[in-house]
Amino acid sequence: MDNNSKNRGHTAKSQNVPINSIAVNTPYEVGDLVVYLATLELAYVIDYDCRYELVTTLTTCDCCTFRFRSRRDANFQCRHIIAMRSVLKID
Ligand SMILES: [Zn+2]
Repeated sequence: MDNNSKNRGHTAKSQNVPINSIAVNTPYEVGDLVVYLATLELAYVIDYDCRYELVTTLTTCDCCTFRFRSRRDANFQCRHIIAMRSVLKID
């Protein structure tokens, strides 16, 4: 009996591959903010004087500043978006 031939071919890959050694689920300090990447497209950002986490993506944010300003300027980036982009080294 030879059962050993089924040992290969099941290597796990295709997880979130960190770009430029950026890790998800790791808090990054950016000035007064802590950016916690849930994925490479979604972060939880904690402001130093804020009690709850903001949900931030590369183009949107939960914060009042973004909600207000983005109505007039569709390309507005609040400091949470800017912090997240700086962690991801985008622009
Ligand atoms: Zn924001």
